Formats: sequence, structure tokens, C-alpha cells
Amino acid sequence: MNRIHNFNAGPAVLPLPVLEQAQAEMLDYQGRGMSILEMSHRSKEYEAINAEAESRLKGLLGLGDDYRVLFLQGGASLQFAMLPLNFLPAGATANYIVTGAWGEKAVEEGQKLGAVHMAASTVEGGFRRVPTPGEISLSDSPAYLHFTSNETIQGVQWPQLPDFGAVPLVCDMSSDILSRPFAAEKFALIYAGAQKNIGPAGATVVIVRQSWLETARKDAPAILRYATFAKNNSLYNTPPVFAVYLTNLVLGWIDAQGGLAGIAAANERKASTVYHAIDRSSGFYRGHAEVGSRSQMNVTFRLPEEGLEKQFVAEAQAAGMVGLAGHRSVGGIRASLYNALPQAAADALASFMDEFLRKNG
Ligand SMILES: *Cc1c(COP(=O)(O)O)cnc(C)c1O
Repeated sequence: MNRIHNFNAGPAVLPLPVLEQAQAEMLDYQGRGMSILEMSHRSKEYEAINAEAESRLKGLLGLGDDYRVLFLQGGASLQFAMLPLNFLPAGATANYIVTGAWGEKAVEEGQKLGAVHMAASTVEGGFRRVPTPGEISLSDSPAYLHFTSNETIQGVQWPQLPDFGAVPLVCDMSSDILSRPFAAEKFALIYAGAQKNIGPAGATVVIVRQSWLETARKDAPAILRYATFAKNNSLYNTPPVFAVYLTNLVLGWIDAQGGLAGIAAANERKASTVYHAIDRSSGFYRGHAEVGSRSQMNVTFRLPEEGLEKQFVAEAQAAGMVGLAGHRSVGGIRASLYNALPQAAADALASFMDEFLRKNG
């Protein structure tokens, strides 16, 4: 077997023990003579997976009965629209803080569906940091405040998540969910496409406070209402069964790593391994994000010229490291260091960076 060092931004590396378990269970799930892919989503086996995934996720986040976990489809991108469809009634104003490309997309969808106030944006300067508290100005009684905890393309992450008291706080955590402990009970709604940090493509996780859910608009089509999925335990229509099954295995794997505290320690070590290689390069590698807003998940940096960046990606690939080209919109290099990426991959990348600098610096 030849597992490569996989720095893909999403879909991304999954834990090897999870893939092995899925492989072992593929042809005959728990003695049923068929795979989970071939079984009814109304079977007791699938219902058990669905329930276990919800309870594992709530357990990892320390959330109680006032929260529901929903497994939806449509990716985080559908959430950009589903959120205002449910929580932005006529006459109300939603607030957004924008720190990168995904936040911009969320705002655009909000603007199509209602009144939006830009509470802060760091577009000036090219999305290199999160705003300071003094740069954030909310409108009067916002319907909600939306932000993106980790901007996957720019590699900009909130070092601590902001708190705005009673304002319903909504966060797109697609690329850093379950990467570190945080106060989940401060959030009215959290969403994340599974394919970066907690599973394969196909499932979107939504964590919503029950009491807030009860205030949602009731005029959206059933398939676009959170309440529809909450009432039916995510089984309103056919769910992405295999994606939820695999996500559930990943959640079990996170538990086995010591939960969020254990995962965070490993993530900090990986990120500092790669950032140190940037910082000791005397400016050969230039990080995109300001130091205080550096992402632990997506390390973005430039080299002195584009030609060298192409060479870097090609030579890294030849050395067994893939997925390092930056997003097409920003260029440069992006190393995604999600939960499932082993420390050995970060070590290999840092050594490669040192060596590449020695030869080309
Ligand atoms: C990848 C990503 C998205 C888009 O996710 P899809 O599942 O492709 O819709 C949205 N927000 C963030 C922060 C992302 O990283």
C-alpha cells in the first residue's frame, strides 16, 4: 500500500483506520449480507448510525438537549441560502463579518434574500486577517451575525471565536470544525460541509439551537427548512447514507484521539512545523495571513516568483506530497493540514521546504 502525503483542501485526507473499517464492512455490514450503501435509510442499522453520529457530535462539542445535529445535502454552499431563508424575515437585518472568499459568497446569497449589513470586512489588504473588535459594528438588533471561522482559500482563521452576547451567532466552520475546543453553546447555528475535516463529500452538518429553530420562518419549501429535518431526525428524504456513515466513523476516531483537546494539540504541532519552515526562510516563503490570523488548517504562502511556485508543486509531488497548489483564485501554495493529516506529512513538507530553499533560495 502506498498512502501519499495528502494536502488536499477538500475533499481531503481521511483517517486510515476509518477507511480500513469502511473497507472491512463494505460487502457485509454487520452480518446483513449487504453494504450500508445498499440498505434502506429506514433500516434499524442506518437509524443507529444516524443517532450515533448526532450523539457523538454533541458529545464532542459538549452540547445538551437544546441542540440538534442535522445531516443535510447541498454542501456549505446551500447553507449560504438556507440560513436567510429560515432566519431572515422581511423587516429584519442580517449581519455578516467577511474575512475571505467563502464569507463573500455567504453575503451575496443573503443579499438576494433580505436586508444585509456588513458588520466588518477585511477585503482591503486582501483578506490577510480577522478584524479587530473595534472594526466590527453591528446594526440594531441583527437577525443573526454570520462569520467564517476559517477561510479555507486565504488561510485566515479566528484565533479565538468572537462573542456578541445575545445576538444569534452563526458560523460557517466547514474547514475547521472539530479541530479545537470552543464554546459551542455560544452559537445559534453552526454548519460545515463534511469533506474537509470530518468526513467525505456529500453530507453537510448543521448544529442548531432548538430554541432558535423555533423562531424560524415557516414559509420556505419543506426541503429548505431546518425544522423539517429536525422533526424527522435528518430522515425527511433519503439522506447521504454513506457520507453520514463515514462521518460517524470519523467522529469515533476523534473520540479515540482524546476528543477536541487531543486533536487540537496534534493540529497545533502540525501547523507550527510548517509555519516554522516559513519563518526560518528569511522571506523566501511569505505567508499570506498576518501572524495573528494564521490558519492552523490551511497554510497559505507565496514564493518569490510564480515559476518557482510551479516548480515547488511539481517537485513536491515527485517527492510524494500532493494537493499543494493554492486555490486558482489566489495562486501560491496552500498546505491543508486537517485533523486526519499525520504529523509525518507536516514533517516531510517542512523538510522539503528547507531543501527547496537551499537549492533555489
Ligand atoms: C469548502 C467550503 C465551502 C463550500 O463547501 P461546499 O460543500 O463545496 O458547498 C464553504 N465554506 C467554507 C469555509 C469552505 O471551506
